Amino acid sequence: MLTMQSDACIRFSLPSIRLVGCRRQMSLALELGTPSGSWWRFRPTVSTEVLAVAASLFFGFACNSAFLTGVLAGRSWTDPATWVFTASMLVMLTGLHLLLLSLVLHRWIARPVLSVLIVATAFATYYMQRFGVYLDPSMLRNVLRTDVAEASELFGLGMLPHLLFYAGLPLLVLWRVRVAKRPLLRALAVRGVTLVAASGLLIGSVLLVFQDFSALMRNQKELRYLITPANYLYSSARVLVSDTRQAAKPREVVGADARRAPSWGTRTRPALFVIAVGETARAANWGLNGYARQTTPELAALDVLNFSDVTACGTNTETSLPCMFSAIGRRDYDEDRIRGSESLLHVLNRAGFQVLWRDNQSGCKGVCEGLPQQQIDPAQLPELCVEGRCLDDALLQGLDTVARDAQGNLVVVLHMLGNHGPTYSKRYPDTFRRFTPTCDTGELRKCSREEIVNAYDNALLYTDHILARTIAFLKERQAHFDTALLYVSDHGESLGENGLYLHGVPYAIAPDEQTKVPMVWWLSDGFTSSFSLDRNCLAGQIARPWAHDQLFHTVLGLLQVETSVYERKLDISAACRR
Ligand SMILES: [Zn+2]
Repeated sequence: MLTMQSDACIRFSLPSIRLVGCRRQMSLALELGTPSGSWWRFRPTVSTEVLAVAASLFFGFACNSAFLTGVLAGRSWTDPATWVFTASMLVMLTGLHLLLLSLVLHRWIARPVLSVLIVATAFATYYMQRFGVYLDPSMLRNVLRTDVAEASELFGLGMLPHLLFYAGLPLLVLWRVRVAKRPLLRALAVRGVTLVAASGLLIGSVLLVFQDFSALMRNQKELRYLITPANYLYSSARVLVSDTRQAAKPREVVGADARRAPSWGTRTRPALFVIAVGETARAANWGLNGYARQTTPELAALDVLNFSDVTACGTNTETSLPCMFSAIGRRDYDEDRIRGSESLLHVLNRAGFQVLWRDNQSGCKGVCEGLPQQQIDPAQLPELCVEGRCLDDALLQGLDTVARDAQGNLVVVLHMLGNHGPTYSKRYPDTFRRFTPTCDTGELRKCSREEIVNAYDNALLYTDHILARTIAFLKERQAHFDTALLYVSDHGESLGENGLYLHGVPYAIAPDEQTKVPMVWWLSDGFTSSFSLDRNCLAGQIARPWAHDQLFHTVLGLLQVETSVYERKLDISAACRR
């Protein structure tokens, strides 16, 4: 309908659209629904408790498909017990979250707090559903320490539909309602009743299927890290408490008595020892391990020792790095103790070695705290770096200018970007795109398994090339230094096996793809003879099962450092030293 009014405005209106044009301004109003009762204007007033119940139902029923899939695995829907168990789990999830929310929600903060939870849960469920991620404390530590470049690779437009459903819709509802104010006494009474009811639901539902449920939680403890959002709330709290506790006390000294063995007095050349810490390279795709494809052609042409059965200490960088450089390792695993103690590098430094941590990734995770470190700066190497990420070639730039100790010795760690996912295709230059077609996006589900594996294998080809270049660098210097390279990856990677992608599955249930890693040594002739090593004997060690646990003691052994923390039985080279 078109109307002309006395204020010199023309109004055009349909049931849902009103267009007003005046001499000075034009406005467009969109009204959804019927003119009499537009639902867009509908803003119900609800109590904080009703919000908490609604949010708990949403979390319980919509955000826990990974947990439900886990607990219902192997059950038959023809068995009535399965239906009872499922119903109990849904009530338990709702009761648990209602209890947690009732403890913290207040009228003033209810909507902001729920908004944060809804958005965080939307992201959490996306990664849990797509990649099989468990949000345990070590994964949360990994997430919280992620840098911008790393995080940006995990975002993609493909997340949008998921985010719209899991965050957009609930937020729309949440911000339409008004939260009611209650007199204090009444508010306390209602909250009390809610807490009792939530506890009742939680306890009742668990008791109903107690035998079944407790057995499940005993045998598959990791399943609790799928209960969302309780999982990431609990895990972040654990990380926060542990970090605060650690920050309050100094690092425990390790190997206070470390010194170079007397044999160092007779050496003629200084030692140049490179530890290359790989990233996300898995043993299964390592050419030297007999993988169907030759992903390590350059190393295969060199005289290297390839250790074919090596187990990582963790399934993510945050766990593996501190663990592999510690004297404690996986056999006696105690995360707080490991993070609170000095590393191999501190011990070497105390024994008089110049040490350096060179990083092309997310830092040394405390391993090099207080010691010299260099972070590759993308601005300095524009030809090797894109979007804040650099190819591992950057680690070799200017390596010969690194400072050494008074005798010329140096132990340098090269922390590679390696096969860091999900965008494996960004880990190598175009010349290494040899296995095709490749997956060129971080949204792995959009690619075929073949494309993912091709991109992953190309990244391994590039790692092979970087290691061969490092060996060439060390060979050039062997007239003046006794040189050696020890390469080992921090953890493996899942490439879609059993629906799992990336890494970080809790260690106890992690598949071999995530825990078995390549390890390669190259020793110059000068290094072998001056450190009295028997090469044939070392070659006899390569097929035996080893682990990150041996790294600490083996490096001390190879470099002939004496200290009371050294354990000979954990030194791979011990039996091969004359
Ligand atoms: Zn890693």
